[in-house]
Amino acid sequence: MGPTKPALEVASFPGGAFAENGYLVRHVATNRVVVVDPGAAAPAMVRVLKEWGGSLDAIYLTHAHFDHVEGIPIVRKHADVPIHLHASDQITYDRAEARGAMFGLKLPGPLPPPDRVLAPGEAVPVGDLTLEVRFAPGHAPGHVILYSEEAQVALVGDVIFQGSIGRTDIPGGDFLQLIDSIRREVLTLPDATRLLSGHGPETTVERERMGNPFLISQMRGGLA
Ligand SMILES: [Zn+2]
Ligand SMILES: [Zn+2]
Repeated sequence: MGPTKPALEVASFPGGAFAENGYLVRHVATNRVVVVDPGAAAPAMVRVLKEWGGSLDAIYLTHAHFDHVEGIPIVRKHADVPIHLHASDQITYDRAEARGAMFGLKLPGPLPPPDRVLAPGEAVPVGDLTLEVRFAPGHAPGHVILYSEEAQVALVGDVIFQGSIGRTDIPGGDFLQLIDSIRREVLTLPDATRLLSGHGPETTVERERMGNPFLISQMRGGLA
């Protein structure tokens, strides 16, 4: 018997001025795929989608900062799939194009409005599996995490990074709310859970609980 194949395959696509990570999440057995936070690397995401020959079902946004949504026009050109966003981040979405322009960045096409509202506790399908929507505001008012207990993986957007946490010095940011979200929605997950962030390398719940300097210095390790 060989090693068991993971039920979910997650591919990371870093790109753009902020090195944002977009993700393709594929349920291997059914070859059904969802896109999470398509950023500047969207053309590469579309190439891999075509290689996989998978059926793309939806776009999910952890939150709506420019670098996490700028690839939407490219993905939507490939497949007319619905865009999902938490209602509290509609305001971030509406501001995204203007925020990008402040950095001299342009969208590759018009940004279509979100089609569906993501609700906390909702289970969104990826083939035969589901991802649980966990509400984690603080970096953005409508930030969510997508978590699969079965696959032991969480797409955490800009809530937490390897050795760092999301910025809160931006419109809609709230430091104490972010710390509360991390405590409630991240540190309560099993230690072995892979954390796939919006920027930088992947990490685990255990690694951040033990060593994330932001969590330890802010709360004297009391978060762990
Ligand atoms: Zn962000
Ligand atoms: Zn980001």
